[in-house]
Amino acid sequence: MSEYPVVCPECGENKSDGQTCADAFHVLLAWEWEFEMQDVHHLLVLCYHLQHPSLYSPDGLKSALELLIAFVEAEMSPQEMRRQIWQRINSGQRDFKITARPDAHGIYAKPVLWEMRVWDCVRAGHENYYRIVRTWSESVFSPLKASGNLAGISTHGMFK
Ligand SMILES: [Zn+2]
Repeated sequence: MSEYPVVCPECGENKSDGQTCADAFHVLLAWEWEFEMQDVHHLLVLCYHLQHPSLYSPDGLKSALELLIAFVEAEMSPQEMRRQIWQRINSGQRDFKITARPDAHGIYAKPVLWEMRVWDCVRAGHENYYRIVRTWSESVFSPLKASGNLAGISTHGMFK
């Protein structure tokens, strides 16, 4: 028996078999290794965390939203995204923590209704992995924008 609630408190996934969103995330990570499909790894990590924002610190969530906007609206390639992420991690200027702390975690100002969730990627099968993660990233973007959670967030300064 799982100790987890059936409905994910963050993304709303409704699994009757007690499996969690983290289980699905780990299935996808295993595929990346097993089938040597790591081109969209950072996009997977981004989408998963954006649908589970309490994994981020408030600043980490804002930074992740900037990356999503850059990817979907400015059509940043996964390779460029990887470069940007490394730049941030390696930058001495980074003065915030990306991951949540007990006293500070990311939360959306307005509720978001997701159209796709991490289990949908598992259901699509590994042969559709790249395509489904890209579709997922667009489906994560749309309701975030529609709900007003992207207001005030820009990619200013990302493309230098
Ligand atoms: Zn979830």
